[in-house]
Amino acid sequence: MELIVARGREDLVKARRAGEVALVPTMGALHEGHRSLIRQARARADQVVVSIFVNPLQFGPNEDFSRYPRTWDADLDVCRAEGVDVVFHPDAEEMYAPDRQVSVSAGHMGSIVEGAFRPGHFDGVLTVVLKLFNLVQPDLAVFGQKDAQQLAVIRRMVADLDLPIEILGAPTVREPDGLALSSRNRYLSDDDRQVALELSRALRAGAAELTPARVRAAAGEVLDAAGSRIAVDYLALVDPATFAEVDESYAGTAVLAVAATVGTTRLIDNITLTLNPA
Ligand code: AMP
Repeated sequence: MELIVARGREDLVKARRAGEVALVPTMGALHEGHRSLIRQARARADQVVVSIFVNPLQFGPNEDFSRYPRTWDADLDVCRAEGVDVVFHPDAEEMYAPDRQVSVSAGHMGSIVEGAFRPGHFDGVLTVVLKLFNLVQPDLAVFGQKDAQQLAVIRRMVADLDLPIEILGAPTVREPDGLALSSRNRYLSDDDRQVALELSRALRAGAAELTPARVRAAAGEVLDAAGSRIAVDYLALVDPATFAEVDESYAGTAVLAVAATVGTTRLIDNITLTLNPA
């Protein structure tokens, strides 16, 4: 099947075939992490739509919107190789009318942990994801656990606003040495990249422990030892559904999440672990 490039709602309606449709939302600069999401979508649905849109709404005024990597030709090759049916690539004018008024609020969940450092980010994410859902009308959508808080707020939106869409989470794809794949890794110098490895190392050290205090201490020690070359925004041990910090008595699945700047590149990563098992 020929890959279809859709630029707006009419193109999407024309491209739609019978059967289940899966959507994989991305900002492009596709890598193995995105490919694993696409494969999960393929395994579940009759038709796979990948959206490629660098969403201005989710970038703060001092963030990297203008320098975010855009690799359109390579992205199309990836989509062809993965058997994607439709690439949805709207331009910003198609998505956001100059006189638009209404948007989605992520509520309290959008203002904690990552949201505390990126005000408005999750509102921007939810607004574009809801618009993509309405335009593509998928039966299911696949998101990466790499952006664990994003996945949690999207699940919350689907529940709170009764969206008839199944949300699938996909495990984080890593380099053999542990670095989580990210479109932003290309900004890291060789030296920065070595330093960035301490992030996943800290998460693994935390995940080897069983109580919240020990998890936080073990991960914190690794980050402290890395010194000033890693500027940590947060190291948070949270409930995966609410992103609220867990207390010492918490038992069950938790997420240990970290955000830090290495060189000029801000990176996030997380690991899922079990606390106080019975
Ligand atoms: P992005 O293009 O960075 O907005 O990411 C698009 C989707 O790919 C999101 O659902 C991300 O969570 C997911 N993703 C990004 N990096 C990875 C990774 N290393 N492993 C798995 N999924 C990822």
